[in-house]
Amino acid sequence: MTTIQIKNAMKRYDNGVIAVKGISLTVEPGEFVYVIGSSGAGKSTFIKLLYHELALTEGMIKLGRFNFGEMKDRDVPYMRREIGIVFQDFKLLPRLTVFENVAYAMQVIETPTRKIKPRVMHVLRLVGLEQKLRRFPSELSGGEQQRVAIARAIVNSPEVVIADEPTGNLDPDTSDEIMDILERINSDGTTIIMATHNRELVNMRPHRLLEIAGGRLVRDEEGGAYGNED
Ligand code: ADP
Ligand code: ADP
Repeated sequence: MTTIQIKNAMKRYDNGVIAVKGISLTVEPGEFVYVIGSSGAGKSTFIKLLYHELALTEGMIKLGRFNFGEMKDRDVPYMRREIGIVFQDFKLLPRLTVFENVAYAMQVIETPTRKIKPRVMHVLRLVGLEQKLRRFPSELSGGEQQRVAIARAIVNSPEVVIADEPTGNLDPDTSDEIMDILERINSDGTTIIMATHNRELVNMRPHRLLEIAGGRLVRDEEGGAYGNED
């Protein structure tokens, strides 16, 4: 069970811009959390701090037993196994098939070969792509590509899935399908943290809502609605 603890998280870029200005909060195992805010508010920076793509300038982030500030380099790959990441632009490997894109995530952490195929098949069934194993990303619709990306994000059974604008490139119906999948993964106990601009989705599917403005946390509300403040 992985709790995420954030205390006075601060990020200053090399150019002096302070994009995150002292955010503190806790995310309990199994929560579904939206991160909203207008363009330039600091959402991406905050999300990147959570998966340690960016290092904190000040403050503390703990993901389960991993304290990002004190972690040794050799711990980073173990910490990363507790997190699955989903991007707006999918970031699939274009020369690998659907099956290979998902299997690759297991190969890089040296999963025994015999365990790979059954697990990949399981997560591809979960996202409804078991019929498209041999397709390449360019042969899939945007929604299908995002489903491959979600399968890849969960194949190593992470405790937390972080999604940065996962529906940003998708039409409303397809976005709905993606949300169904993320909510299903969440109901199996996985924590979901999702940055989004999608007002309709947030309002149709209420979950904990964090709003960031000017690098600060200005709202933290269970089932909060996405108003017209953006
Ligand atoms: P959001 O995701 O909410 O649009 P960002 O986290 O991307 O916000 O940006 C927050 C602030 O940090 C903005 O002022 C942005 O210009 C600045 N910023 C983002 N990335 C960098 C960077 N790599 N170097 C310098 N400033 C950056
Ligand atoms: P959408 O209408 O959701 O954007 P598309 O029209 O892109 O979907 O694709 C519809 C179906 O056709 C999908 O199942 C996709 O896998 C398949 N498809 C799309 N482009 C190709 C292609 N170049 N080769 C093979 N199958 C494709």
